[in-house]
Amino acid sequence: MDSRATGSSFQAHPHAKMRLLLKGGRIVDPSQGLDKVADLLIEDGRIAEIGSVTSKADQVEDVSGKVVVPGLIDMHVHLREPGFEYKEDIATGTRAAVAGGFTSVACMPNTNPVTDTRSVVEFILGRARDANLARVHPIGALTKDLKGEEIAEIGDMLEGGAVAFSDDAFPIENSGLMRRAMDYCAMFDAPVIVHCEDKTLSDDGYMNEGLLSTILGLKGIPREAEEIAIARNLMLAKLTGCRLHVAHVSTRGSVEIIRQAKEAGVNVTCETCPQYFSLTEEAVKGYDTNAKINPPLRCADDVAAVKEGLSDGTIDVIATDHAPHAIEEKETEFAVALCGMVGLETALGLVMTELVKPGVLSLADAVAKMTVNPARILGLDAGSLQVGKPADITVIDTSAKWAVDPSRFHSRSKNTPLAGRQLIGAASLAIVGGRIIARNNEVIA
Ligand SMILES: [Zn+2]
Ligand SMILES: [Zn+2]
Repeated sequence: MDSRATGSSFQAHPHAKMRLLLKGGRIVDPSQGLDKVADLLIEDGRIAEIGSVTSKADQVEDVSGKVVVPGLIDMHVHLREPGFEYKEDIATGTRAAVAGGFTSVACMPNTNPVTDTRSVVEFILGRARDANLARVHPIGALTKDLKGEEIAEIGDMLEGGAVAFSDDAFPIENSGLMRRAMDYCAMFDAPVIVHCEDKTLSDDGYMNEGLLSTILGLKGIPREAEEIAIARNLMLAKLTGCRLHVAHVSTRGSVEIIRQAKEAGVNVTCETCPQYFSLTEEAVKGYDTNAKINPPLRCADDVAAVKEGLSDGTIDVIATDHAPHAIEEKETEFAVALCGMVGLETALGLVMTELVKPGVLSLADAVAKMTVNPARILGLDAGSLQVGKPADITVIDTSAKWAVDPSRFHSRSKNTPLAGRQLIGAASLAIVGGRIIARNNEVIA
């Protein structure tokens, strides 16, 4: 939509004037069905040429043996600024992003103040410009102060650069209000992102409900808390015609309900997160609070269903739900610990190790779910290596072997249950607007 601002719009950078040549990589760009070994030339911060490039460049990067893809996009992160800078801020969060291979992120509105006005949206964009690392696209709140009572200034926030709307972890219980919020967003063709949780079923629950929660003596959250909320939101999306995006799908039932809705023509897309195809509730054993997340980690059968959903296209996007928390918020008893885990610096390795290597997804399909698909949903001018597009590029070393070491994270927070996990595949370059920002997981800009 022309009326829609595109968030942090493309900025030419003084250093981007030069010509940077990525030589001899395997270029995988699902936006144009491209998968071939070729050179890629960047000029003035944009993709200038793909093929056998003979013209002179100021800088040449030998990327032979590596994979060159559109810059990865994470459409679900929590950057915690304004208000919770002790967990993360826009500078540290975008450092973590580029170190992990992400060149664009969309951040959720549960900040303080809540991102429910144009001024907070503009503040976030300003802080992102100052940091000058990954591009940042704010997601505005659907309701004022995330209270689920009064619809926020959607149109104003869109003009300020918000790309979607969500109350994320504070889902709107009132179906009538949700309908009006969807109606409103439909008017602007703005996507509505829903965290699906019936709080009357999940309240006071700390992990997936089942045998293990009984053994551990931790109150469980039934899968139905997620599935009932998805079903309602799908019905309301059908009623209103809004563009619905379901966040962090975690159960077999959720995948099946969304698959049926898509077959029935409902305008819905959805995402899952690496934790829901890489971990099960077993990670909670030993009361590891880093494995306390919302929705909770589920069982092997749910993991299998999430993989089926990724593979058959029911699940469109892989996002991280990067949720930094301070040590003291996690090093406490399980019941009191806050929910969430960081994800920006482990996502690519988990996708390569758990999905691409075993053949759950082809490399191109995995890349599509982290580039062109989220770009289309959010209406971003990103996620493609077409000539003329902003040169946001990730170069992947698919054979890099490494172990997760939270002490090396760029994120201000280290809360992950994945410490020590062996992974294959890492970002070797992150390029934003033609400028190399990160190399081998180190930020160099
Ligand atoms: Zn959520
Ligand atoms: Zn979230």
